[in-house]
Amino acid sequence: PLPPRLFFEAVEQSPIAISITDAKATILYANHAFETLTGYSREEVRGQNEAILSNNATPDSVYQHLWRTIQHKQTWTGTLVNRTKQGGDYLAELTISPVLDGDGDLKYFLGMHRDVTKMH
Ligand code: FAD
Repeated sequence: PLPPRLFFEAVEQSPIAISITDAKATILYANHAFETLTGYSREEVRGQNEAILSNNATPDSVYQHLWRTIQHKQTWTGTLVNRTKQGGDYLAELTISPVLDGDGDLKYFLGMHRDVTKMH
């Protein structure tokens, strides 16, 4: 069996920005690529909502669709404009997948995003 340490190291070394949140998008964990891309350290974002990354210009309807999808235990993929700690905007290709517990209840979300600014 794969040791848990290997799972951790694999996620830490992933080039994709990865975060794990509770069911309300409160950040519990962020990997190294998340720190590099967003400019926030993991200590800074722990306990904060993922909304910290919003550029505050995304239409409400986008977030409503996102939440409706993930609350139905489905995966949402889309492109958002995010803002780094330093204030720079970037285009984020984001996938959010639900993480269910043993009873099939929604407990966590897995967020994965990368900067696709240069691809547009
Ligand atoms: P708000 O006014 O709080 O919300 C906007 C709309 O979203 C509301 O109309 C409401 O219908 C809906 N909404 C917000 N919170 C909830 C909730 N808990 N349950 C149901 N509906 C809700 N946002 C980004 O901008 N960039 C990201 O990179 C990003 N990554 C995320 C990763 C994960 C794993 C998750 C779960 C969420 C992520 N979000 C991200 C969404 C983020 O949590 C916020 O909902 C979003 O940024 C809007 O926040 P707000 O405070 O600007 O707006």
